Amino acid sequence: MSKQLGIDLGTANTLIYMKGKDIILREPSVVAIDRQRRRVLAVGEDAKRMLGKTPGGIEAQFPLKDGVIADFDITARMLNFFFSKIHASGIISRPVVVICIPYGVTEVERRAVEDATYEAGAKDVALVSEPIAAAIGSGLRINGPRGSMIVDIGGGTTEVAVLSLNGIVVSSSTRVAGNQLDDAIVQYMRDEHQVLIGRSTAEELKKKIGSVHPSTDIGEIEIRGSNLRSGLAASISISSAQIREALDLPVKQILEVIRRTLAGTPPELSADILSYGIMLSGGGALLGGLPRLISENTGVRVTVAKQPLESVVRGLGRIIEGSSDYPVEFRAR
Ligand code: ADP
Ligand code: MG
Repeated sequence: MSKQLGIDLGTANTLIYMKGKDIILREPSVVAIDRQRRRVLAVGEDAKRMLGKTPGGIEAQFPLKDGVIADFDITARMLNFFFSKIHASGIISRPVVVICIPYGVTEVERRAVEDATYEAGAKDVALVSEPIAAAIGSGLRINGPRGSMIVDIGGGTTEVAVLSLNGIVVSSSTRVAGNQLDDAIVQYMRDEHQVLIGRSTAEELKKKIGSVHPSTDIGEIEIRGSNLRSGLAASISISSAQIREALDLPVKQILEVIRRTLAGTPPELSADILSYGIMLSGGGALLGGLPRLISENTGVRVTVAKQPLESVVRGLGRIIEGSSDYPVEFRAR
């Protein structure tokens, strides 16, 4: 018997739901490879720990960029590794997979996701648009003639979509998302404090004390980096207000995409969004103060999905369990 899987192949994280079970895998989308021997050394959490710390010849990388596959071969190997980890691969029991693709990608990018999934060992593959899965997984009812807006802020992209009757009516996306916020913190530390920090440290700062609205300020924490001029280790105290300053520009860009999409929404649907609000999903939804800031900026109520990092895969889970009436079409290779 084939296992049925729902896969959220994200720029930052990959999650897998197994039919009849639940979410059975949550790992960063990272692969560490030995370039010379062309061997995979580590995948997922183990590989993420190596980021920025590898010696020459070894490379830890994210095979997806901005929501799409940047390295086909490495992506297929990563998926194959995850299949073995959850015991879903084997000659007799190749998995049947429903996997997400961002809305608005090219045909070539679509095919890359499909082919990489087959390459990894899948028997049949069906593709579902990410905003649809995120909406279903956030608990939105999208099958009726009622407009809902979902904003998914991941690692590489922010996707905004207005849904009605199981389809996408309006959508926009931007490459400003979690990674760009981390980069903005790295740059701020360099420009304003002459301290070099790595991306992982920046991400940690964002998660621990990040606050884009004064009402959610947490306080200060001590971080380590190296002094830009002397190159020596430096320790510095950083506050939520400083992180807010660092994130100002990318956060404004995210607000702008949401506002633009609202402005381009047909009036009947925007009336629905006004009454039912905007749903936020993806890891970026956890950024302190963001729901409130979006709400103040748009005049629309904002709800954060219960487990925003899991919305997409939970949506796929509901689709494969048959508890959503969203139709999927498998394409055997
Ligand atoms: P993707 O779908 O692109 O893989 P995810 O939805 O898994 O992305 O979200 C990953 C992003 O969410 C990362 O940029 C991460 O830093 C960010 N993130 C996770 N937790 C938090 C948090 N508590 N505060 C702010 N950002 C967060
Ligand atoms: Mg995602």
